[in-house]
Amino acid sequence: MILIRHLYIGVDDTDSPDGMCTTYLASQIINRFAESGIELIGYPRLIRLNPFARHKTRGNGGVALEILNDSKASIAKKIVLEEVEKLSMFDCDNTNPGVIFYEGEITPEMEDYAFRAIHEFITIEEAEEFGKSVGCEIHKFKKGRGIIGAIASISLPLDDCTYELLAYRAPENFGTERKIDHDSVYEMDEKTFPDTFENIDYSEGYIAIEPKTPCPVLYGIRSNVPEVLKEARDIVKVGEPIDDWCIFKTNQHTDMHIQNASKISDMKQFGCYCVCGEVKNKPTIIDGGHMFFYITDESGEIECGAYEPTKTFRKTVSYLRPGDVIRVYGGIGEQNTFNVEKFQVIRLNDVEYKNPMCECGKRMTSAGKNKGFKCKKCGNRIESNEKIPVGVERDLENGRFYETPVSARRHLSKPLCRMDLTC
Ligand SMILES: [Zn+2]
Repeated sequence: MILIRHLYIGVDDTDSPDGMCTTYLASQIINRFAESGIELIGYPRLIRLNPFARHKTRGNGGVALEILNDSKASIAKKIVLEEVEKLSMFDCDNTNPGVIFYEGEITPEMEDYAFRAIHEFITIEEAEEFGKSVGCEIHKFKKGRGIIGAIASISLPLDDCTYELLAYRAPENFGTERKIDHDSVYEMDEKTFPDTFENIDYSEGYIAIEPKTPCPVLYGIRSNVPEVLKEARDIVKVGEPIDDWCIFKTNQHTDMHIQNASKISDMKQFGCYCVCGEVKNKPTIIDGGHMFFYITDESGEIECGAYEPTKTFRKTVSYLRPGDVIRVYGGIGEQNTFNVEKFQVIRLNDVEYKNPMCECGKRMTSAGKNKGFKCKKCGNRIESNEKIPVGVERDLENGRFYETPVSARRHLSKPLCRMDLTC
């Protein structure tokens, strides 16, 4: 018996802020595969890498396809390379496509590599060396940065995953205003949430399925199960032709980028973590509308930020007070600030210490350092310097999670509507 092995295909970094999308390129490849009688095994994958990695691609998503490594494998490789040549945004300095072909089984060391690409960052040289060591066929275009994500995309285990249906525009409409009937998106959300999610940002009145860039994507609908996506697609009405559509299996919204840090000093810049700490100071807004505060533990402290685009989330953050113990989820960016994606309240500091009340009902004032308290109304004095604990009404709840609105959410962040799910 001849064992037919699989051929894994990874592609990344073909797009630019001015257009294209690696998923669109993948869907074109899949169409040409179909014409040649080449069938995919499973869903195509869309894999997001560490959002804090330097030189990230737009959206930071690589694509992987899996087919049988049979007599048609050489045709498949030819199609992939032709489409990458044809559709990549080569004029953009920051577009440096990479293509990987790999025959055989995904090994544990390849899985480790993939997690490293999501948790930390990997250089082109490291990726190339690693790819060669496991027997990948490597194709670099320009600097070939895309090989970093291409190897990760074929290698990442998806113990948790979501799906995204991407509908693509006709090429003549690229760059023009999208014609999506917003009422129908509300209807779709009503009928399919929570199987689908991230459709609408209700706090900002924002249609989240519609990209804001000139890419070929008309809309993207995200879900926990693939079955609901065609139903959702049929509900959404559009005023322009849908040229093509494709469902991807993805690590989006799984928190796969988050590593558990047992203490603050264990975290490194450009890494993504969840970590517990005590709020040190009252969160304050600075120029530009960004909100900052520090958390501390026995190992050190770190500045946390809720940035202007997180909108209403800043209001929630402003309810924190010194002494609150919280677990923050997010990543450490350029300025060494922890970008908070969500937080869980572990223990609220719901006590504050006030001067004692006088017998006459008036709150007493300090009579001077270590001289006790006095009452300004009746002149009463007490010698004790001890303040009295008083309960504080809080706008946050112990144990509860608070997250950024949909409009500001990162691709990898697990929304609260998925927090109790694993698939
Ligand atoms: Zn008094």
